[in-house]
Amino acid sequence: MISILCPCFNEEKSLPLFFDRIIPVMENTGEEFEFVFANDGSTDDTLSVLKNYVAQDKRVRVIDFSRNFGKEAAITALLDYSHGDAVVLLDADLQHPPELIPEMIQKWHEGWEVVAARRDRGTDSFLKKYTALAFYRFSNYMMSYKIPANVGDFRLMDRCVVDTLIKFRESQRLMKGLFAWAGFNTYFIDYKAEKRAAGKSKFRILSLWHLAVDGITSFSTLPLRIWSYIGGIIAFGAFIYGLVIAADTWIFGKDTPGYATTVCLILLFGGLQLLGIGVMGEYLGRTYIESKNRPIYIVRKVFENE
Ligand code: UDP
Ligand code: MG
Repeated sequence: MISILCPCFNEEKSLPLFFDRIIPVMENTGEEFEFVFANDGSTDDTLSVLKNYVAQDKRVRVIDFSRNFGKEAAITALLDYSHGDAVVLLDADLQHPPELIPEMIQKWHEGWEVVAARRDRGTDSFLKKYTALAFYRFSNYMMSYKIPANVGDFRLMDRCVVDTLIKFRESQRLMKGLFAWAGFNTYFIDYKAEKRAAGKSKFRILSLWHLAVDGITSFSTLPLRIWSYIGGIIAFGAFIYGLVIAADTWIFGKDTPGYATTVCLILLFGGLQLLGIGVMGEYLGRTYIESKNRPIYIVRKVFENE
C-alpha cells in the first residue's frame, strides 16, 4: 500500500483541485493507496473540506492539529500516522505535480529506497531562487553531509526510511536536513514546479531565514568552533604586533603614540567577542528549547471513515 501524505494550511481552494488531479493518477497505478492529511491549524474551511472527503472516501484520513505548528511538524505527524509500505509526500497546492508519482512508484519497485523530486526553479522569483541557492551553498559548506540542491519535500520513501525518520524527535527540525542525514539509496527525478493552484504561499522571507538557521545549527557546530580559530589567529597577531612595537621602542627608540589605534582595537575585539557570545547564545537557546522536550505537534482529533 502507498500512503499519500499532504500537509495543509489554509488550502480550502486548492484541495478540490488536488483531489481531482491525484485520484485518477493514483487509480491508474493499480496500487492500493490511502491519503493522510494534516490540517495544520487552518483558519479557513480546510477542515470541513477535508472532513467531506473523509465521509465520501474510506481511503482518506485527517489529522487535525490544535494550532499551526508549521510544515515541518505537519510532515512529522504525517510520517507518524502513515501505514503504507511506501509514502509519497507532496504539497496540497499542486506545485508538486501528482503525475510524477507513477514514475516514483516504478523506481521504488526497482529497489530504490527514496525517490526524490528535484525541481527546476524556473518559475520562482529571482529573490527566492538566489536565497535558496545561497542556503544550499552555505549549508553544504558547513556540514559534513550534503543537502542536495533544489530537492524539497516532494519524495517517495520506503517504509524502512519512514521508520528511521520517525525516531528523530528533536523539536527544531528541517525535514530536508533530516532526509539527507538519514541517507539511504536515493533516485532523483527532475520536474518543473508549477504555479500554486490557488491561494497564497505561506512562507515569508523571515520564516525561511529561521528555517535556514535551524537547519545549519541543527546539523553543524562549526559556527561554535570557528571562534576558537578566530581567537587563536587574533592572539597570534597581537603577539607579533607586540614584538614589533617592543623592537621599535627599545631598538630604534621610536615612541609609540597609539591612542586611536587602541580605541579601534578595543572596539574591534569587543565586537568580535560579542559576536562569539551571540553564536554561543544561539546554541545555548536551542539546547534549552530542546531540553524541554515538548511534543512536536498536538493532535486535536483524527478523522477517519471506519
Ligand atoms: N504548510 C503547512 N503549514 C504551514 C505552512 C505551509 O502545512 O505552516 C503546507 C501548505 O499547506 C502546502 C505546503 O506546506 O501544502 C507548502 O506551502 P506553500 O505552498 O505555502 O509554500 P511554498 O510552496 O511557497 O514554499
Ligand atoms: Mg507551494
